Amino acid sequence: MIKKIAIYGKGGIGKSTTVANLSAVWGSDDLNCLVIGCDPKADTTRTLYGKRIPTVVNTLRDNRNPEKEDLVFQGFKNIQCVESGGPEPGVGCAGRGVIVAMKYLEQLGIFDDDLDVVVYDVLGDVVCGGFSVPLREKYADEVLIVTSGEYMALYAANNIVRGVKKLKGNLSGIVCNCRNVDNEEQIVNDFAEKIGTHVIGTIHRSNLIQDAELDAKTVVEKYPESAEAQEYRDLASSIMHNENVSTPEPMEDEEFEEFFHS
Ligand code: ATP
Ligand code: MG
Repeated sequence: MIKKIAIYGKGGIGKSTTVANLSAVWGSDDLNCLVIGCDPKADTTRTLYGKRIPTVVNTLRDNRNPEKEDLVFQGFKNIQCVESGGPEPGVGCAGRGVIVAMKYLEQLGIFDDDLDVVVYDVLGDVVCGGFSVPLREKYADEVLIVTSGEYMALYAANNIVRGVKKLKGNLSGIVCNCRNVDNEEQIVNDFAEKIGTHVIGTIHRSNLIQDAELDAKTVVEKYPESAEAQEYRDLASSIMHNENVSTPEPMEDEEFEEFFHS
């Protein structure tokens, strides 16, 4: 059965890094993997393809009938890479870009291929139209939230949980991407429990991840023997075998403050 996952989280928390490394693991396991970056920054697939790829929105601007080869790029381990693209910062809504891109990709039949897993790297902000597209349009059927133990990352995660609940989405778990906060894993674990889910995996903070990124590679590709790559393999395996899927229950603002001060 094809798995369709959307990854959410606060800006800068590590969504794209997580999506790229997970995909690199699945690609290495010979799974047929499609990655769709849904952020106008279009940087999700850079570490899989080795450089930036043209976005669907930009390509459609110059060519009204692009073909699959113009939009889908084969990256590391034949992972299929797509960037929806979107408006320049400050102009227009990112959600439009994602919708236009997804409709066109559907028309081209790229979702009819023999895919094992489709991963969406979603623009994290709940107030942005881009947030809801993968869930609302049923492109994705499960959600993962990336967070650290930092206040603002968890605050954003709680807001995302609100959005997921509203859209009746299925939450598969929380990825703890560490920032070296005191008691971080405990805090994230407590948060997960509080909203009715679980921590599905933990990635420790490491310079090796940024070192690989500078080389436009995932750590899974550049340092496959590293502990970091192993953490991504463990996370990828937990996601594939996960049976704990739930509609989450967000905290009220007051409850959230209390949670943080307890
Ligand atoms: P945005 O919301 O801007 O799209 P994002 O959530 O996609 O951001 P990334 O671009 O994946 O975040 O990561 C931001 C930076 O943090 C990158 O330089 C990345 O290499 C680094 N990073 C992510 N995870 C880790 C980690 N576990 N250890 C060290 N650096 C990390
Ligand atoms: Mg990103």
